[in-house]
Amino acid sequence: MALSIIHFPHPTLRHRSRPIARVDAKLHAMAAEMLDLMYENEGVGLAANQVDLPIRMFVANASGVRGEGQEWVVINPVIDRPKGSEAGQEGCLSVPGLFAQVKRPKTVRLQGYDLKGQEINQELDGFLSRVVQHEVDHLDGVMFFDRIGNEAMRDLEHGLAEFETTFQSLRNTGSIPDDAELAKRLAHWEKTYT
Ligand SMILES: [Zn+2]
Repeated sequence: MALSIIHFPHPTLRHRSRPIARVDAKLHAMAAEMLDLMYENEGVGLAANQVDLPIRMFVANASGVRGEGQEWVVINPVIDRPKGSEAGQEGCLSVPGLFAQVKRPKTVRLQGYDLKGQEINQELDGFLSRVVQHEVDHLDGVMFFDRIGNEAMRDLEHGLAEFETTFQSLRNTGSIPDDAELAKRLAHWEKTYT
């Protein structure tokens, strides 16, 4: 299947994804396709919501380069044990071109599973900690700009309004299905994998 990255304000970005209950060959293929999209778009992480799939999975590579750094495919991620606080710049493949300083815990523990069913249990620090927190937010329907102050938000307002205009025109021409059709698709994926 051909996955593509959806942009704000696509409703699936606000959907709280459900835990994955089965892993099959198709899910492996979708994870590989998500990694392809992430690298092609020069991202460091991509959550399943961002390719219109309502399931708890994300891919990441803090280096942003295939073959360098550590590549992650994480199923049913849970983060806890937040420690410290640090501001850092974030962008998002679902609002390309927009950036803001976001304050997050400095370190967190990530638990979850890889595609082989092996358990992941690791303390994360630095940029990778930020990337993973950003991706897990996506799975809960949260965008990075939900976590910034009013003043920083004003700097993004114009850009976000442009994304809204583009979304409306894609809807008007039928390139993006209406809410009922989208809900039907999400229900199909939820039935298959959660
Ligand atoms: Zn993002």
